[in-house]
Parts: sequence; structure tokens; C-alpha cells
Amino acid sequence: METIEITLEGIFDLAKETLSFNGCNEINATTLSDTIMRAERDGSLSHGLFRLPAYVASLRSKKVNGNANPTLTELGLSVLRVEGDHAFAPMAQSVGLPAIIDLTKQTGVGILALTNMHHMAALWPETEAIAEAGLVGFACVSYKPAVAPAGSKEALFGTNPISFAWPRKNQTPLVYDMATASMAMGEVQVTAREGLSVPIGTGLNKLGEDTTDPNEIIDGGVLLPFGGYKGSAISMMVELLAGALLGECFSFEAEENDLKDGGPPKGGEFILAISPDKIAGQGWQEHAEQFFKRIQSTEGVRLPGERRHKNRLDLGPRKINKELIEKIKKLKN
Ligand code: NDP
Repeated sequence: METIEITLEGIFDLAKETLSFNGCNEINATTLSDTIMRAERDGSLSHGLFRLPAYVASLRSKKVNGNANPTLTELGLSVLRVEGDHAFAPMAQSVGLPAIIDLTKQTGVGILALTNMHHMAALWPETEAIAEAGLVGFACVSYKPAVAPAGSKEALFGTNPISFAWPRKNQTPLVYDMATASMAMGEVQVTAREGLSVPIGTGLNKLGEDTTDPNEIIDGGVLLPFGGYKGSAISMMVELLAGALLGECFSFEAEENDLKDGGPPKGGEFILAISPDKIAGQGWQEHAEQFFKRIQSTEGVRLPGERRHKNRLDLGPRKINKELIEKIKKLKN
């Protein structure tokens, strides 16, 4: 794969110019570009510039509102809702996250219901922001059908990621962020682009047979949930939390209502924040640190999030796929 080196600032500028050219106002373009730059910085490659053409497609089709002005409503003592005004998810989050963090510090627990918005990014930015404020964070989101429930060969669930973050003193939080599919569709697409194969168990081809060819999964095949019926149950939970609980769509409904422009469908995101200060009382951080130390003392084990956080320390340029950059440049004409 031929690559071009681009600085982090250059990545941000490229994203912002492209989004602005395609109808985003200053705040919407800045917010999404920051998410894209941070994905590249951390090595979340399937959610950085790679997603820009799909974001642009949904602006051009007018499905997503590049001038969105999401609004916040209090639904109860510890529940907030953001009406997303058809924004990209980071814009809706920018309105809801500071508010749910403040609320949870008072109440001990807070639920943030993001609705009427379009999510196609990684989930760690939101859970990590909550943990950086000293709270435990959890988030999940559905998408469009791509995953066959255990026992089936037909897509019904989205790739339905879940993310969890735990706050640590003077350190980046512990964060995991994973699709409940055996592999996120973005990762399958990146694998296909790079001409690599995927492990058996990732998905089925259009005949319902196991395959290691990512293109066969993308072209009419289906992904499988991770861990068989166990991952399938967690994916079902995501559909309920991010769909029915928020008064939002299930993945199959999102697809029915979607313009099919290649961009993210309309949907909801369920976010939970919990205050260990309020619940555990003093000493919880030291207690958790002992646990992390114990895990890390086991040979061959690393904590989730470590790879990204290590990448983050490198402030130098990133190698970006040349073909992708050429494709993005054409989106500014
Ligand atoms: P991965 O399988 O790459 O990683 C999942 C998690 O496991 C990460 O937190 C990762 O940490 C951790 N991890 C990986 N390897 C190890 C290891 N050896 N030991 C300990 N921890 C490990 O992610 P997925 O492919 O499942 O998902 C990729 C992204 O796609 C996610 O950010 C997800 O939110 C996003 N996504 C978004 C969707 C949307 O609709 N918005 C839909 C589906 C997925 P680390 O990062 O440090 O490697």
C-alpha cells in the first residue's frame, strides 16, 4: 500500500476543509474533524480519514445536517436527552457529555440518551471523556443490519459496538471499545483494501459458507457475532438499549428509513456514567490499581486501550493511504 505522511494538524485541516466544502458550518466541521484526527492519532484507522467519503456522501444527500444545532432536555433527575437535529454523533455528544458529567457528579449515576443523530465513529472518545472526568463510562450504539444472530445466516443486528472506560489517577483511563461482531465492518473493509484475509468465524459469504475473504463478506455476505450465542445476546442488548429504550430505531428499522447513501443511518446512542466517589467511597482507585497490577503481572497480557494510548504519545506525522487521500481531495471539487 502506497502511503503519504501527513501531520496531525494536516489531517484535521484536510477533514475540516472537506466537510466545510460539503456543507458543514464551522462548529459541526470542527467537531467531526477533531474526532477524525484523534482516530488517526490513536491508530483507530477504520474510523479516521477512511470514513470521510461516507460522511461527505451523507452531507451531499442531505441526510445529515451539517448545520445541526442539537438541544439538551432533562428527562428526570439523572436522565438527559439530546435531540440531535440530524447531526453527526460527535456534535450531539459535544452538547450532552459535559452536562451528563456534571449531573452524575451530583447524583452518582446518569443516563444520556442521544437521539436523532448519525454515528459512524469509534466509541472510545465518549467513554474516555467520561472517565477523564473521574467517572465510569459505558456507551453503545446500533447501526444497520450486518450481523447474523447466532443460529442464523441472515443479517439482523448492526455491528453494535460497546465501550467501557474506568478512570485512573494521573493516567489515561482503562478503555475497551469493541464491535459485538467478530470484526467491525470498517476493519473488514480496511482488510479488504489491503488485500489481506480475515480469520474463519468472521463472517459468511452470500451462500452462507465460512470464508476468509473479506470481499465475500462485504459483497452480499454477513458478519457473525463474536463468541457465538454469547456475543449475539450482547448485540441484542445493544439493539434494545440504543433503540427501544431511547425511542430510537433498531438496526433493521434504521436501514428501512435510510437513504442508502453509504453514510451512517439515523439512530440513537445510549451512554451511562457512574460516580465511584459516590458509590464506593474512599480508596476505590487504589483498590482498582491493585487489580490492574495483578492483571499486568500475568505474562502476555495487556490492558485494552494501551495500544491506542501508546500511539497517542507519537505527535509526528501519520502514514495515510495515498489512494484515500486522492479520493478525499476530489471531494473538495
Ligand atoms: P478491536 O477488536 O480492534 O479491539 C477491541 C478492544 O480490544 C479495544 O479496546 C482494544 O484495545 C482491545 N484489544 C485488542 N487486542 C487486545 C489484546 N491483545 N489485549 C487486550 N486488549 C486488546 O476493535 P473492533 O474491531 O471490535 O472495533 C473497532 C472500532 O469500531 C471500535 O472503536 C468501535 O467503536 C468501532 N465501531 C463503530 C461502529 C459504529 O456504528 N459507530 C460500529 C462498529 C464498530 P486497543 O485499542 O488498545 O487495541
